This record gives sequence, structure tokens and C-alpha cells, in this order.
Amino acid sequence: MAQQPFGAMSAAQIQAGLKAKEFSAAEVARGALDRIAVADEPVHSFLEVTEELALEAAARVDDALVAGTFDELGPLAGVPVGFKDNMNLVGTRTTCSSRMLADYASPYTATCVQRCLDAGALPMGKLNMDEFAFGSSTETSAFGPTRNPWDLGRVPGGSSGGSAAAVAAGLVPVTLGSDTGGSIRQPASFCGVVGIKPTYGLVSRYGVVAFGSSLDQVGPFSRTVADAALAMNAIAGRDPLDCTSQPNDVDFAAALDEGAQGMRVGIVPEFLEAPGLTPEVRERIEEVAAKLEAEGATLVDVHLPNAKAAMSAYYVLGPCEAFSNLARFDSVRYGYCDSGHKDLNAQYEASRATGFGEEARRRIMLGSYLLSAGVYERYYYPAQQVRTLITQDYARAFEQVDCILAPVSPRTAFEFGEIGDPTEMYLSDMFTISINIAGNGGMSVPVGIGRDTGLPIGAQLVAPAFQDRAMMRLAAAIERLYGEAPVAPGFADGKAGE
Ligand code: GLN
Repeated sequence: MAQQPFGAMSAAQIQAGLKAKEFSAAEVARGALDRIAVADEPVHSFLEVTEELALEAAARVDDALVAGTFDELGPLAGVPVGFKDNMNLVGTRTTCSSRMLADYASPYTATCVQRCLDAGALPMGKLNMDEFAFGSSTETSAFGPTRNPWDLGRVPGGSSGGSAAAVAAGLVPVTLGSDTGGSIRQPASFCGVVGIKPTYGLVSRYGVVAFGSSLDQVGPFSRTVADAALAMNAIAGRDPLDCTSQPNDVDFAAALDEGAQGMRVGIVPEFLEAPGLTPEVRERIEEVAAKLEAEGATLVDVHLPNAKAAMSAYYVLGPCEAFSNLARFDSVRYGYCDSGHKDLNAQYEASRATGFGEEARRRIMLGSYLLSAGVYERYYYPAQQVRTLITQDYARAFEQVDCILAPVSPRTAFEFGEIGDPTEMYLSDMFTISINIAGNGGMSVPVGIGRDTGLPIGAQLVAPAFQDRAMMRLAAAIERLYGEAPVAPGFADGKAGE
């Protein structure tokens, strides 16, 4: 039998084939492993491939197929899934793409990962990222960057660049990433795939290495909205190990075909007029709005007057939380150790100076300064006040609309090295950050190729808190208009980047 392109099939197609006995789960795992071995070479989305774990999980799925209990396995039964390397999985390292954790063996499994395993997923491995999730390009990985499958000279976005690229290259149908300021939505947009940042609290953060604990949220990548819904069904819900997590009784796969008819869709004029927004992205978002209106949605202008301060608030709150979270990597309890120093302070200093890369050190220094006596009152307090104002802006907007439509990123994927100035890099997230600040769910859905750059564009949908299903329903309507995300052309039909 010809090798099936399992990673390029949707989760739903794989499950249908398994049930029809067209192939076994062992063949799915083996096929995906073989494909990763060949096609990931030019992309470098995987840091570690978990062959043994994948084959073990596949054997359990095959046993269930024989026993006739496949339908009881769960929403990801037989589906190859990859995990961002800030998620613990026993049997793997969890490096956060940092020298600091290069040899760190996962002591337990993160709840989000465990729930995928419990739902029948085949764990394929760990995916590259910006170091500790600081960045928008995956260029800060200590293990080398991931390349964008649509153009290997360009970045995949970040920080979950490996998670987005693995799906865009057709290596696996589903991955998990994390999003603190845009790290799921922006790489999804750059790689032309679906990416969901759920409402804060919908998915447990237990076992995910913390960046900004009040902002971080785990979510799925896939090429179809329906596959993302399966992953959401697997991972969402209360976890006693994360006190911020909330119960979930929503079936995300259920309402996907209801269409845009009757939905009130918010447009934020100040986003569409933002300097830096490229014409091809702006025009595409306007086109999406017009098409949704033609489908029976009502467009409503909504205003987020304080969103312009989101970036400033984020680069106070984010580094403060990161500085606190990264204090544990002290070379004694955790992390890389530069030993042989007489005094412990010298060991801390040498280990942290070598173990952390440049962007991580920048964030630590910023956070340490911002939280110091006298400075704290001038930055941290006002940033928290701005946070409240932004949250209230969204709450007011959602009195008028069911969902907001916005750009994800001001532009399509950039070239390696094109953006050297860190503050310019930070602007990649100008449309995503306020959503983490407010805590709402947000997602990126592919809306075709840019007329000027020929690269994928994503539309961002934002939902009221815990109404994530609303944005997924609208995303499914948009998917019907623009088509399901294809595997990047250089990786379609068995090609491997040539
Ligand atoms: N790019 C943003 C940053 O560098 C967001 C990263 C993220 O969401 N993890 O902080």
C-alpha cells in the first residue's frame, strides 16, 4: 500500500480511516514518524521525536479498534499530536528551547498533554519555540530557528513557531502551543493554519513552564477548525492542580456549522487605521467583514479606547511576571550549572549569564528593575490599572457584539534577521496583546494569501470570556468562504521543501 500522508490528513480523516480499517494506528504513527524524519529537516520544528511513546499509544488505539471500543477513547483517538517544548511530558526533555534547561527531564506530565494522551492522541514529540516563549519569530531558540514552510527564508512567527510550522508542513494534524501575548495566533497567521488562544482559565497551565502566569494560556493548532475543536474538547476544563482553571461543559465541535447568519461582528476602526498595518492585511480583513455581512452577519463598529496602551502595559506586566517565574532557574534547584565557583553568588551569576539567551536576560533585567522599590509604584501599579481599563473596554464592546474581527499581525511573515530591533519585533503583537491582558479567547483563522507578499494572512476573532465557541462558529463560517488551510505548497504531495 502506498504510504499515506497521515500528517497532511485532518484528524477527522484519520479517525474515519481507522474506523473503516483502511489503516491501523500503528501505520499512522509510523507514517507520521517517517514523514517527520524526511520533511522536518529543512523546517526544524521538532526538537525531540518520541517514537516509542507514539508507537505505544498507537498499540492502545489498535487494541481498542479490535475490541470495538474505539469510540470510547476520546476526541483525539489515533491522531498524531506534537507539543511545544514548554510542556512537560514524562519520557521527554522540556527545554523551553533554552540552554538553561537543555538536559531537563520532565518529572511529570502537564495536564494539557495528559488530556491529549487520555483522549487517545499519539504523542509525536516536542516542538521548537522562542526561548522561554520570549519572541515572535522562533529566532531566539538556543537550538536554532524553525523555518516557515511557506518560504524557508522566512520566520514561522513565534513563540510557538515549531507548533505552527509542524502543522503547516503537514507533519502532524494537531499541535499544542502557548500564548502570552500572541504566541499562538501570530505564528498561526504566519504559517497559514488555525490557532486558538482560549479564554484564560479554560485550559489548565499545570506543567507548562510559566512565562507570565496571569497571561499564559495553552491552545491548539490545526489546519481545520473542526480539528481544533476536537483538541479543545480534549484539553478544556477544570484541573484541581491549577486554581485558575474553570469547568467546561461546552462541546466545541457541536455548533460549527451554524454559520455567520445573525451574528453581530465587531469591527475596531482604530485597529484598521493603525500605522504599520500593511494594505494587503487591512484590505483582506475588510473583505472578510464584507463577506460575513453578505452571509447574514451584522457589522458593528466597537471602540477599545485603552487598547493603545496594551503594549506598554504588557511590557511591564510580562517582564515582571517572567522575572519572578525565572528566578527558580538558579543552577541549584533547576537548570544549567556553571560550577567551580567558590561562592554561590558567583555560581548564580555565571550560570544565569550563560544559561539564558539575550532576550531572556533582557526580560529578567527589565522585570527586576520594574519591581524594585520606588520604581514599582510608577510602572507596575499603573500597568495594572491600564489592565482593568482594557478589560472594561472589551466587556463594553461585548455588550454590543458576539465576536470581534481584527487583524492578527500587521504584516505577513518576515525574513530571518529582517527585524533586529527588539521593540520593532514587539509590534508583531500589536493586535493580539490586549486580548491576553483582558483574558478573552482569541484565534487566528487563515484567510488566503496576501496579494503583495504571496504569504498567508490570518484573521483574528475575539470572543467574550468563556464564549470561545462563538469565535469558533464564526471561524468555521470563514473557513467555508476561504477554504481549509492547505499544507504549504513546498511540502504538499510528498515534497520536502524543494
Ligand atoms: N511576542 C510576545 C513576547 O515576546 C508574546 C510571546 C508569547 O505570547 N509567549 O512576549
